[in-house]
Amino acid sequence: MTPEFANDLKASVRAIPDYPKPGIIFRDITTLLGEPRAFRRAIDELVQPWAGSKIDKVAGIEARGFIIGGAIAHQVSSGFVPIRKKGKLPHTCVSMEYALEYGTDKIEVHVDAITPGERVILVDDLIATGGTAEGAIKLLRQIGAEVVAACFVIDLPELGGAAKIRAMGVPVRTLVAFE
Ligand code: AMP
Repeated sequence: MTPEFANDLKASVRAIPDYPKPGIIFRDITTLLGEPRAFRRAIDELVQPWAGSKIDKVAGIEARGFIIGGAIAHQVSSGFVPIRKKGKLPHTCVSMEYALEYGTDKIEVHVDAITPGERVILVDDLIATGGTAEGAIKLLRQIGAEVVAACFVIDLPELGGAAKIRAMGVPVRTLVAFE
């Protein structure tokens, strides 16, 4: 990725101070998604290491991970698996509790979404503490996935999420970082 494109991409993400609560800077990717060149190039850059390799499924985390993950699945000619908040998926699910800043929450996936041994890329818009991605990887592994990578447009490196996911043995790809 050229430094110019990295700068353009970073500039295309809108910062919303104090959302959803005081002290949080929300990194809003809707502005990036609305720019055709930024959206296409972000997807191209994210999948670049896996061009030509066999990926069976892309798993996207609700809700912004569906947008990025759907585009990636199309690009690598794979299937798509939604990972959703508890109670949203209609068929039999397996669920996983994951850590939030305060407390825990649950994510779910259909029990038959993956055929054991399938190669899966996990996708979300942003990684912060890594709690959500950690829960998603445990969930995918529980139903037999080989999680070959985790991709995020945005990294907040000070919160240590990418390092946590690498420590689980999953390579992490991110495009832009905000301190
Ligand atoms: P975490 O589990 O701490 O890595 O948080 C990642 C999840 O929360 C992702 O689904 C993100 O979309 C969302 N998220 C966390 N922090 C932010 C932020 N500052 N701006 C936008 N989304 C965020």
